[in-house]
Amino acid sequence: MRYTDDPLTDLEVFSDSFLAPYAVRHSDNLGRIHGPEIQEYRTCYQRDRDRIIHSKAFRRLGYKTQVFTNDRGDNYRTRLTHSLEVSQLTRSVCTALRLNADYGETLALAHDLGHTPFGHAGQDALNHLMHGHGGFEHNCQSLRIVMTTENRYPEYPGLNLTRRTLIGMMKHRCGSFCSGVFSGDRSFADICNERDQGNPSMEAAVADICDRIAYNHHDLEDGFDSGYLHFKDMLEIPAFGEAYERSAQKYGKILGSSRESLKLKVVIREMLGEAVTDLIKTTKETLNDLRIFSLDELISLSPEQFPVKMGSEVTLKMKDVSVFLRDRLYNHPEVIKMSRRGTYIIETLFQEYVSRPSMMPLHVQKRITHAGTERTVSDYISGMTDRFAEKEYYKLKPS
Ligand code: MG
Repeated sequence: MRYTDDPLTDLEVFSDSFLAPYAVRHSDNLGRIHGPEIQEYRTCYQRDRDRIIHSKAFRRLGYKTQVFTNDRGDNYRTRLTHSLEVSQLTRSVCTALRLNADYGETLALAHDLGHTPFGHAGQDALNHLMHGHGGFEHNCQSLRIVMTTENRYPEYPGLNLTRRTLIGMMKHRCGSFCSGVFSGDRSFADICNERDQGNPSMEAAVADICDRIAYNHHDLEDGFDSGYLHFKDMLEIPAFGEAYERSAQKYGKILGSSRESLKLKVVIREMLGEAVTDLIKTTKETLNDLRIFSLDELISLSPEQFPVKMGSEVTLKMKDVSVFLRDRLYNHPEVIKMSRRGTYIIETLFQEYVSRPSMMPLHVQKRITHAGTERTVSDYISGMTDRFAEKEYYKLKPS
């Protein structure tokens, strides 16, 4: 797929000259589905980023659960603050590797747009309910949002992002999965086909790893603040224990006499620094051995050769953190109860709206002709914030 309808501006040519040969250049943007759009003072990926930030779906992330629903307190991460943290890490890593930081930032900000209310429980519930109707997956949903359901321009639906951004938003190869979600739409099929040609760009892979680095470390902090995770138990995690030792050497007595909550922040910052530094170092070393000189060469490498990775030791340490979080936080009885409640609300809303679509707003009902009842209900519910879904549920609940 090659499109040349967006001529490059001087700013884009200038920006490209600083990038590594395997980075995504502005000349790799593949154009936009709805014609060329040029602006002298922003590059094409900066425009994509700005469109995402100005979208309704992005604002709603502020009221969607990361782990804790936002009625639990104001200091916990939401999908919005998580996305900002991922974009900060992604920009830093991309800059250190001479990758396109604007493109990486755009993908990081967009990576959770398709998430349902109530975290992963919401996605699992909706996927189950959409069985036989194409299923539901948050990554495909992100693409649906930016290509169809966001409504900001009179000439076309969606945000008209560059094809390169749309391809980068697909974390995994699409296979046949997305075809159920997008049923017969040529533009979606083109994006999925292009994504399935090979590896993601390095910027997309960096955003994906930074997502994992961000939530692994921040969930430890939020878990501690909730009272479900305890400092002494976290010392059992090798990465945490070692980072505590390094911090103790660095700060000496001051750390010993600090509050546990401050100690935790110091240790987590140390762990996060180790993961990010290792990601940059290992990726640079792998690139040195590979000697690749273009994006095309990068995309056609075998997955085992793909250079964006952490070293084996830090990868194992990250796995230990994930296992600890799964066992002690995500499977904590109170977190399971929050998830069950979310599942119950989504199941109820889905059944009610499918049986009586006239309860949805008129502009949503209009989409039924094109997308079908179940897909329209799935789009509507997945776009809801936690609190809006709760409100709708209470309106329908018999008192
Ligand atoms: Mg995420």
